[in-house]
Amino acid sequence: INGYLKLQNNLFFLSLPFSNLIPAISTDSVNPDTIFANNEMSLRDIEIYGFDYDYTLAFYSSHLHTLIFNIARDILITKHRYPEGLRKYEYIPNFAVRGLHYDVQKALLMKIDAFHYIQLGTVYRGLQPVSDEEVIAMYEGCHVPLEIMSDFYGKSSHGHTMKQFMDIFSLPEMTLLSCVNDFFMKHNIDYEPVHLYKDVKEAIRDVHVKGIMYRAVEADIDKYICYGEQSQAVLKKLSAHGKKMFLITNSPFDFVDRGMSYIVGKDWRDLFDVVIVHADKPGFFNDRRKPFRRVTDKGALLWDRIHRLEKGQIYKQGNLYEFLRLTGWRGSRVLYFGDHIYSDLADLTLKHGWRTGAIIPELRKEIKIMNTQPYVHMMTWLQSLTGLIEQMQVHRDPASQAVVEEWIREREAMRPQTKDIFNAQFGSLFRTYHNPTYFSRRLSRFADIYMASISCLLNYDFQHTFFPRRTPLQHESPFWPELRLPLLISLTLFCFSGF
Ligand SMILES: [Mg+2]
Repeated sequence: INGYLKLQNNLFFLSLPFSNLIPAISTDSVNPDTIFANNEMSLRDIEIYGFDYDYTLAFYSSHLHTLIFNIARDILITKHRYPEGLRKYEYIPNFAVRGLHYDVQKALLMKIDAFHYIQLGTVYRGLQPVSDEEVIAMYEGCHVPLEIMSDFYGKSSHGHTMKQFMDIFSLPEMTLLSCVNDFFMKHNIDYEPVHLYKDVKEAIRDVHVKGIMYRAVEADIDKYICYGEQSQAVLKKLSAHGKKMFLITNSPFDFVDRGMSYIVGKDWRDLFDVVIVHADKPGFFNDRRKPFRRVTDKGALLWDRIHRLEKGQIYKQGNLYEFLRLTGWRGSRVLYFGDHIYSDLADLTLKHGWRTGAIIPELRKEIKIMNTQPYVHMMTWLQSLTGLIEQMQVHRDPASQAVVEEWIREREAMRPQTKDIFNAQFGSLFRTYHNPTYFSRRLSRFADIYMASISCLLNYDFQHTFFPRRTPLQHESPFWPELRLPLLISLTLFCFSGF
């Protein structure tokens, strides 16, 4: 109400009709089971469906992140001789979000937008935020030059000091890095951040490569895998409609077999025309040299040359060029789903012309927040202020400028709220305050469609065409905000509903 009265006074003072400047409050909520399109695509054209395994067909509970964190933390202590005091750190489930950048030399975790600008208020050293002034001093502003950004796959190498964490499995890695940094700082221990980054990376890799995580999941599968029935329903539906299916995963056969037997049943391999394990993506999509190798059920490797990829068999490694030659599954009749935008989808989109579907589990939580009344009101108010500032700034007399300055301050003050509502440290996966994140930009480039889970496919038939909304380009849209008629009523409701 205060905001409304202040606004009314200010507008009266400026002698302007405010009804034209306030956008209506939307009452439409977004269904979290929707499949969203970046690019038009019809399921009518898709004959062959490919899948990644981890976080695409097998969705894991948060227990897995705790497990990875604990094992990697203990590896740091036992193998890399880090201080015993680290053992008191536990996994913090909602500390990090996916898609963050880590400055390896400065030991800072941060969110970067689509234009390579650091989002102030989202820079963390250890578990503590770094002040805006310090960030600006360190980076001589907020812009991160291209030459220090990570390489195409998000990796930090050859002078790239910014690593981007794109894997869902990297949430415990980011949290562990932050905890160890926190410990060293609290105890005034002098350390080399580059060594710390490499040691944590190696410890996390050991959790996967040495099979520790695989054995733990296989031993207690109920605890770690969730929503198995939905994945099963999708695969059965595709099979019932005569679609070809294949699996390309970096995980080992035993682990996938145990998980898929739990999700689908012992006969899961009957659903798939080709199964490839230990694929070594993204190398699988680029490196022509690695041949396929057949693996027996017992894990023995055979030495014969592969002339066909046969149903019921299991193959290891190989490469996409060989896969295309042996199957003939080329171009836009193939749709591949994965949760890693770089390793799973980037090369397919850029080089090979398969259609791509990104699985983004975080969508479910973010859409739930976006559908709440406080969020809708906050965004409407923010848009209103932005529109008012944009239009009213032309009144250059001191009194009008004072009002506009007040709106600018209010808009600035609202910015942290739009971040904190998603995650107190880093905000939404998809937006910095107003811009899309670096993650969003890559998502819209590399994925034709995206969705919270593979189960969203159950809501559509195989004739369905996904159309991206024709959002206007900046030069195509009318002056901000659009003029609408029922605004006065909306504003009144909005102002008296407790915002
Ligand atoms: Mg995956």
